Parts: sequence; structure tokens; C-alpha cells
Amino acid sequence: MPGACRPPRWPLHAAPFPRPPASANACGVAPGTSSCDVAIVGGGLAGGLIALALAARRPELSVTLIEAGATIGGNHIWSFFEGDVARDERNLLAPLVSHAWPGYDVAFPGHRRRLNQPYYSIRSERLDAAVRAALPEGRVHTGRRALAVSARAAVLEDGTRIEAGGVIDARGAASLSTLDLGWQKFVGEELLLAAPHGLDRPIVMDATVEQYDGYRFVYVLPFDERTLFVEDTYYSTSAELQPDLLAHRIQAYAAAKGWQVESVARRESGVLPVAMGGDFAAYWQSGGGSVAKAGVRAGLFHPTTGYSLPDAVRTAHLVASLKDLSGAALAAALHDHAASAWKERGFYRMLDRMLFRAAAPTQRYKVLERFYTLSPQLIARFYAGRSTKGDKLRVLAGKPPVPVLRAIAALREGRA
Ligand SMILES: Cc1cc2nc3c(=O)[nH]c(=O)nc-3n(C[C@H](O)[C@H](O)[C@H](O)COP(=O)(O)OP(=O)(O)OC[C@H]3O[C@@H](n4cnc5c(N)ncnc54)[C@H](O)[C@@H]3O)c2cc1C
Repeated sequence: MPGACRPPRWPLHAAPFPRPPASANACGVAPGTSSCDVAIVGGGLAGGLIALALAARRPELSVTLIEAGATIGGNHIWSFFEGDVARDERNLLAPLVSHAWPGYDVAFPGHRRRLNQPYYSIRSERLDAAVRAALPEGRVHTGRRALAVSARAAVLEDGTRIEAGGVIDARGAASLSTLDLGWQKFVGEELLLAAPHGLDRPIVMDATVEQYDGYRFVYVLPFDERTLFVEDTYYSTSAELQPDLLAHRIQAYAAAKGWQVESVARRESGVLPVAMGGDFAAYWQSGGGSVAKAGVRAGLFHPTTGYSLPDAVRTAHLVASLKDLSGAALAAALHDHAASAWKERGFYRMLDRMLFRAAAPTQRYKVLERFYTLSPQLIARFYAGRSTKGDKLRVLAGKPPVPVLRAIAALREGRA
């Protein structure tokens, strides 16, 4: 099958992360007190990538990673478009890419389109293996929950105190109640099929399906000729997820496509914030005002997709480039980085208000249907969070796919 699941084009000059020897100042975390240069609390996407970036670019530092779960990265498949990550930042991700495709399709009731922007997926197992290989033995601590985190110390559930030159808190979302949110929610299943499915690239949005609970689409990744990852997704004003119902809809979608499912290899689900507005300062404060933060905890996600991988890569590079990694300097640098990203992204939050507040739930798909008639470059910049002024005008130009008066009200609301 041409294009499907071939080896990634991306491991440009990817060298696997070699495991350095355990050093004398290793911040091992046996019960008691220990110290290190940088402690990262939360070994998810953002924390894991920071650990990798520091190991690659600052090998002289002792870095400790504390994760409550059994593995780094949990149970995830993270996907991204090639344009989401700047060329000079791609080396960090290259060894992690598990699947690569030359482009993707979208389908709406009114039109279908093939776009040639390469698309990639990372399995969290790869992040786990890469982080364990990159940090010296005894520095990756899974199954250890932090109870309290400050700019220079973390206290774990078993009473261990870790002191560090600087701590980065990457434990996932802080208080989302400080933000004005809609939700992107989904259940995804990896399906093993009885016969080849015939897809050679992802379907990033199949919105030809019946619309329920806001904007609904199905997302499909062909991992190999008989394995598909199928996700039933909703842009909804409610965060409530009904996993069994969505799993049932995935099976119905597969059956309608003529795919005979032999088994479900794994399942994942998510309820991601889609930001329409909110108080960034209050959000930052809710995660501990004086502590450096990364990932969703820092508010670093695309307001429209809820995706955070591109931001996590940028943040990892930023941290590795900082001369001063003391708690106070890290907190200042990461706060400024996150605050300016939040400020720059007002346009996306305004579009989200239009999507959720101007369009009737059953008509929301029209906003995306129209968006996908625009130029491939504009679409790529949109997902990368790098829309130009021209892009913004183009997105808003022409007859809006939502009622005009409601659209104006949604715009005003943001200004207020
Ligand atoms: C199923 C799913 C699929 C997604 N797919 C994509 C995608 O394709 N592309 C994309 O860009 N984004 C995707 N996202 C959105 C977002 O990028 C991810 O949620 C991403 O993992 C967020 O990164 P993070 O590091 O901020 O948080 P997380 O990855 O959630 O990491 C936080 C970590 O902190 C740990 N932790 C929490 N509390 C403690 C504690 N007290 N002590 C120690 N550790 C603790 C958690 O166990 C977790 O491992 C997806 C989200 C989900 C849920």
C-alpha cells in the first residue's frame, strides 16, 4: 500500500538517545532528601520532552523526573502536522515518531479534500523508552506521586523531599475553572481488522457522519494494512464523555465502511479544553504562582484544538537554552513564554466563540467545512498557531457560515 505506515521520513539525522552513565551527583530518589539541578514533576508529554532536551543539550546537569503513573507519557497517541514544529526543533521528536504519512484527507457533506501536509504520530511507549534511555539510571521515577511542589523542592507521597536548583511543574491542567471553555472530547480505538482497509493516509476529519452533541467527526489513522486507529470526536459545550456510547459509534462507523473488526487492541479517551477566553493570570496562579510550569499546566495548548505537542517541543527547546535554571529564573522565563503565547492567540479564542456561541450545534460543521476550502498553507499555519494577519482576514472574509448577528455578538463578547 503506497504511503501507508512506511518508515517515517523524519528521523532526519535522528540518533537514538544514548544512556549516559549514572553520575556522582545523580539525584536518586530513595526515601529521605536528595538534590539535583533540575527536577521535573509530571512525566507526561511536556515533562518528558524537557527531560530529553536537557539530556541532549545539557548533559552536565543532573535532571530528575517524577511521574505518578507507571510509565512516562501514559497511554497516548500524539499526532501532529509537519508544519507544527519548526525545522530546527524537529530533531527532538524524530526518534519518537512511530508512524508517518505524506498527507491526509478531510470529508464534509459538501466537499472532500486531500492535503499534502505530512502527518506524524508518536506512541507514548516510544517517549517512555526514549526518556529512560536518555537519563542516567536512577533519575526516572515512575509510580511516585508529588504532593507539594515549590520553585526549588518537591515532596513526594512517601515523604521524600527532592531539592533542586529549579523545579518545573508539568503535572497537566491546573484550575480550568479560570478559563472560558468548550471541549474537544473523544474516544479512540485501535482496531485489528480481518482484511486490509485500503486507506493509505489518515482521515483527519470525516464530518459526513451524523451530527450529535455539537460538531462531530471521525478521525482515522491507518497504522498498517489491517490496523486502524478510529476516534469518534465532538466539539461540545459539555465535558461529559460517554465512553461506551462512543465506542459503539466507532464500531458502527467501521461496519458502515465494510471493515470487519477482529479485536480492539487499545482504547484511549480525552476531554481537551477549547479556549474561548479566560483569565490567564488566574490560571497561572492556580497552578502555584511562583513555580515554573510547562505543558497544559502553563496554558500552553492550541486554543482551538486543545493540542499541546507543538508547544511542548518549543518549551523543551526554550528550557534547554536557558543559562539560568534556578527556580526563580525558570518560573520567570516560562511565565513570560506562556503569557505571550496566550496573548498572541486571541484570534483563535474568538473563532472558538463563533464556533460554540454563534453556530447552532448541528450547524457547527459548516465552520470547519468552509475553513477546509482555504489554502493549504493557511490551514497549516492555523494548526501551527502561526496565522498571519492576512490569514486572519481571509478566515473572516466572505459570507460567514454562522448567523451574522450571533457572530457579531460573539466578537463583542471577547472585546468586553
Ligand atoms: C487521549 C489523548 C490524545 C491526545 N492527542 C493529542 C495529539 O494527537 N496531539 C496533540 O498535540 N495533543 C494531543 N492531546 C492533548 C495534549 O497534547 C495531551 O493531553 C498532552 O499529553 C498534554 O501534555 P502535558 O505534559 O501537559 O500533560 P500530560 O501528558 O497529561 O502529563 C502530565 C503528567 O503528570 C503526571 N502527574 C499528575 N499529577 C502528578 C503528581 N502529583 N505527581 C507526579 N506526577 C503527576 C500525570 O500522570 C501525567 O503523566 C491528547 C490528549 C489526550 C488525553
